[in-house]
Amino acid sequence: MNISFHGADRGVTGSCHMISCAGKNILIDCGMYQGGHELDEENSEPFGFDPAAMDYVLLTHAHLDHCGRLPLLVKRGFRGEIITTAASRALSRIVMMDAAGLQEDEARYHARKNKRHGEQNDVEPLYTTLDALNTLEYFGRSAKYGTPLAIAPGISATFLDAGHILGSASILLELTEGKKHRTVAFSGDLGNAGRKLLHDPVPPLHADVVVMETTYGDRLHRSLPESITELYQAINDALQRGGNVIIPTFALERTQELLFYMREGIEQGELPRSMQVFLDSPMAISATEIFKHYPDCYKKTTAALFHAGDDPFNLPGLHFTRETAQSMAINNVNGGAVIMAGSGMCTGGRVRHHLKHNLWRKDSSVIFVGFAAEGTLARLIIDGVPKVRIFGEEIAVKAKIYTINGFSAHADRDELLAWHRHIKPERTFLVHGEEAVMQSFASHLKNTEVYMPIRNQVFAL
Ligand code: ZN
Repeated sequence: MNISFHGADRGVTGSCHMISCAGKNILIDCGMYQGGHELDEENSEPFGFDPAAMDYVLLTHAHLDHCGRLPLLVKRGFRGEIITTAASRALSRIVMMDAAGLQEDEARYHARKNKRHGEQNDVEPLYTTLDALNTLEYFGRSAKYGTPLAIAPGISATFLDAGHILGSASILLELTEGKKHRTVAFSGDLGNAGRKLLHDPVPPLHADVVVMETTYGDRLHRSLPESITELYQAINDALQRGGNVIIPTFALERTQELLFYMREGIEQGELPRSMQVFLDSPMAISATEIFKHYPDCYKKTTAALFHAGDDPFNLPGLHFTRETAQSMAINNVNGGAVIMAGSGMCTGGRVRHHLKHNLWRKDSSVIFVGFAAEGTLARLIIDGVPKVRIFGEEIAVKAKIYTINGFSAHADRDELLAWHRHIKPERTFLVHGEEAVMQSFASHLKNTEVYMPIRNQVFAL
């Protein structure tokens, strides 16, 4: 009985862990590395295991850094079963399709560049739309929160609501091999408690071993009410100054939460009813549709809105711009627009166009509402660099920059510690965090052996 680590090792992205038990190999997540070119290359490296030898993938949630290498896994020979919640299955479909499209675009771009340099070699995308479609064939049983699922003899998995995004789960594995019995809890990404949309994270009662995320393991978030007030102030301030407001969004959850709070703001008179909001992300538009199909994943008050036929994600001046031509037309709007576009870390997507058109303007604002990994464009701007490069052009950073952390879909240090205290594990493996953050978090853990595994490291359970 072993556990091994194949991603999100002393870094936030690329989650991929493996359990070997009773003759079966089970992956927990198979996510993509994000941020910077070196990380792009890491995605195409060998997994550190034979994909064809994997029997199952248990997927904690549909974020790219957790499901983004699934199509590559299938391309390289995986023929087992992928198990996740119904909502995660629906969301991961659009996430993988979107990622495949980006990979294809990028390969075409590099191939053209090679040709301009007089080289003829084609560039193969990491995976194609066809690979992503093939991957959908391997999604098997759907997991229900709180109901143990018999995966294989000696292996059962219970998905517990992680409160991070729609459909997200922590996974408790109960493993038996011969006389040996172990329980292992994977946190997945943990959300924060007390939000209006999603349920609070549900910790397992106990586990011998814990594998947990540490994204915000060294800091505390400002409270949600304060963050909502901050958001309203930032938007009002920018609108008064006559510029546009760019909000780089994560298509899943953050977008829908922001729409929810903006709608509340308008209803409460905190935001102008005339405010024009552009949701300029095909993926976020599709995700918002999916969110409407799972009203019972939400807290009662929000579910009640859905059941009453209200759409809590709709506001008076909301425009969905799915087509490229519609997106480009937003460039002609000089002021008064709130533009939400992906990607959240500004590593790709339409937000880069909007940043190019607005970042150099003193009267515009950029509001960051989520985590930005090291090396990403978002992180550079947050860290205060005077100039950035976008599409080969140097752009001055003159817009007003806000970072509002209270909307984070991740638990902060104290919430992570509370989750851990509840479980009382003998051993704790820290993943999904920058190394310095992990070190800081580890210093707060009591009565447990703490490990910070490196890539492809194997431990006996
Ligand atoms: Zn996540």
